[in-house]
Amino acid sequence: MTERTTRTESMESANEILRGVRLFNPADGFDGVVDVAAGRDSVLWIRKASGKPSGLWLLPGLVDMHVHLRTPGCEDAETLETGLRAAVAGGVTRVGMMPNTTPALDTLDLALSVKEKGELFGLARIEPIPCVTRGRAGEICTDLEDFAGSGITCFSDDGSPVESDKALLDAFNRVASFNGVVIEHPEVTAMAAGGAVNLGRASTETGVQGIPESAEHLDVKRCIDILRDSRSGARLHLTHLSSPESIRQVHEAVLAGLKVTCDVTPHHLALNEEAVIALGPVAKMNPPLRSEESRKEIVHMVREGMVTAVASDHAPHTSTRKELPLSTAAFGIIGLETLLPVTLGILGGEAGMHPLDIIRLLTTAPASVLNTAPPDIAAGKPLNMILFDPELQWTYTRTFSSSSNSPFFGERLKGRVVRVWFGRELYREGEFV
Ligand SMILES: [Zn+2]
Repeated sequence: MTERTTRTESMESANEILRGVRLFNPADGFDGVVDVAAGRDSVLWIRKASGKPSGLWLLPGLVDMHVHLRTPGCEDAETLETGLRAAVAGGVTRVGMMPNTTPALDTLDLALSVKEKGELFGLARIEPIPCVTRGRAGEICTDLEDFAGSGITCFSDDGSPVESDKALLDAFNRVASFNGVVIEHPEVTAMAAGGAVNLGRASTETGVQGIPESAEHLDVKRCIDILRDSRSGARLHLTHLSSPESIRQVHEAVLAGLKVTCDVTPHHLALNEEAVIALGPVAKMNPPLRSEESRKEIVHMVREGMVTAVASDHAPHTSTRKELPLSTAAFGIIGLETLLPVTLGILGGEAGMHPLDIIRLLTTAPASVLNTAPPDIAAGKPLNMILFDPELQWTYTRTFSSSSNSPFFGERLKGRVVRVWFGRELYREGEFV
């Protein structure tokens, strides 16, 4: 086949050719500068670049495994549509939806209904993560097998831990039969109760009750102990870890042959407790921002491969719930739109990690935890990719979320998602297509 024939064929079918983009594709470990032809809904071909590099990166659509969409029940803070728009603007094409809505996502009907409603917008896809226990009350497991029959295999009581040891043991024994996973929000609630910031400098400086790191890692230990005793071979995922001791325990469990994974948030990598001292409630989240010593150690642990994934813990709140005294303001910050630049900034800068390894933490790794297909940019595959300008400096002053509670709001960031395709082109330079 001559070069001319090839070009004629592809020019006829390609909607667009992206030239000289640096493709990072963790699904096959590819890193190189290429030309990519995009058809209406799929990738037509990928070839070695014919001209100069554009300086832009082409990445698979991100998988954010920890997102609060607030619907049903708290639509003034976020609707499915605004949450999914914020996701796409951040380059996220699949969101793991946490179940602490009102009512909680504890029935198959409700989980399927949010997933189906989400599909109607044609934006990012919702992967529902229903409750481990009925009403998210921590006592009696939901109909786990019922969910699994419809392809839903990840469960969490996020917002709270699975309080009952017996329920947790029961859940491990049951999810093991379908390779499901229990995603634990690790917290000893009695120890954290009444606290708002890190126990240490933040609690001393603000005069507000502190939450110790042990309130997290003692629950990590409990979960791992119960998993080991269950002899079930089940999978356990520990989310938004803020304490190096938690990550050490996960690592030891992995070395002992248990199927344990974990994630950290971009804000726990980028910020320490000084942020909540300086900024107040907009930097209040659970678990709280920790000491600089802990933050540094966690960044190091991510580089050492001890952390499976990075997830935003996107947690929108209206200003009426956030603009309150530090002790009573709601926990949580939005994070979908800053997920990629903040993560790349720290892990590419301070940790010196290779971009391909960072992108893996945001794509194939969380997809694997969620039992969903890895995003993959390859000829013949449906469009699921984002164009990212790693050098673009911008100020975060506009959000597609219904809420704007982020310590990064108004801040200067480096690196921005400029275009997103998921099934078709969805987003281009700040606007939905
Ligand atoms: Zn949580």
